[in-house]
Amino acid sequence: MSVFEHPEFRGHERVVFGHDPDSGLRAIVAIHDTTLGPALGGCRIWHYADGDEALTDVLRLSRGMTYKSAMAGLPLGGGKAVVIADPQRDKTPELLRAMGRLVESLNGSYITAEDSGTSVADLRHLAETTRYVVGITEKRDENGEIHSGDPSPATARGVYVGLHATVREALGRDDLHGLRVAIQGVGNVGYHLARHLHEAGARLWVSDINEQSVARAVEEFGATAVEPERIHAAEVDVFAPCALGAALSRETIGEMHARVVAGSANNQLATDADGERLRQRGILYAPDYVINAGGVIDVADEHHGYDALRVRARIDAIADTLTEIYARAHRDGLPTNEVADRIAEERLRRSAHGAAA
Ligand code: NAD
Repeated sequence: MSVFEHPEFRGHERVVFGHDPDSGLRAIVAIHDTTLGPALGGCRIWHYADGDEALTDVLRLSRGMTYKSAMAGLPLGGGKAVVIADPQRDKTPELLRAMGRLVESLNGSYITAEDSGTSVADLRHLAETTRYVVGITEKRDENGEIHSGDPSPATARGVYVGLHATVREALGRDDLHGLRVAIQGVGNVGYHLARHLHEAGARLWVSDINEQSVARAVEEFGATAVEPERIHAAEVDVFAPCALGAALSRETIGEMHARVVAGSANNQLATDADGERLRQRGILYAPDYVINAGGVIDVADEHHGYDALRVRARIDAIADTLTEIYARAHRDGLPTNEVADRIAEERLRRSAHGAAA
């Protein structure tokens, strides 16, 4: 099968395969859409079984970035990069510099950032050979405190305001005190989300395959530990998937008690039809790429000279975007994931026509 016939190809502008024999780099950069601006998206390093698996992942993720940036109101398109390598074993400075050269060769049509398998330290190696990297600059937040380039706290802040808006819509309450929330995965984002919720008086149930992460949440936030296989079925008001994709499937949706789904994970729906399944069960779903845009909003701002107040306002506006989606979903009787896709596509079309006019 060629790239053009791949089921996830769906209108990609460019797909670039890179190989550097000296460092062993094997990488794919996918640029889905640059209608709104240069394609921004993370660089994932993963021990994919083969090139086909890597291609499927990069195509799916880059298209998601187009929609995410469009919904966040950013002047950016969607792209993503994957490196076929074991992040524990194969990640050498030479490999990262070779990846930087591949990114540089695209002349700014693709801007890279952190993702699974890459850290701020890795990005600094990439930045030795390319100018097109974000998420490495230390920044001052609105309280004057200095933070590393890590976007996770910004993502968690966006999920928190988005969760609040979704609870208001679905449960008709503004106060999070006593709200019962189950968090699947208390890693970088899940931990910060738990902190925000704890400070707001919510009660927490958490799961993680990493026992230390669970123990930290239990100790710091008084959370109740739940087996990873059962967290989706916890007797709570809100389910927050903050681990891997496909947490919402026919099986898990059938067992859920929560009336709200609001979490950071990418690609939460196992299939598009699961959005409708949630709607039919009366569960309000905050579309993943809308609620988890805080990180991209944060790193994208480095491009214009980082302004913490501007970033904060954009992240807080995630709540307004979700409210708009819920109003339209209610009016048209549609699942929220479908409404989000439609709004993003309208924004892209408007911009493309505006450019042509
Ligand atoms: P992370 O790796 O720090 O955290 C994920 C956590 O999930 C880990 O602690 C891991 O042990 C746990 N986990 C894995 N499988 C699990 C399972 N089956 N059950 C329970 N826990 C499990 O990653 P992160 O940066 O916190 O990102 C979390 C999710 O949010 C990912 O899907 C990521 O793509 C998405 N996301 C992250 C950001 C960001 O800024 N970091 C931005 C947008 C989206």
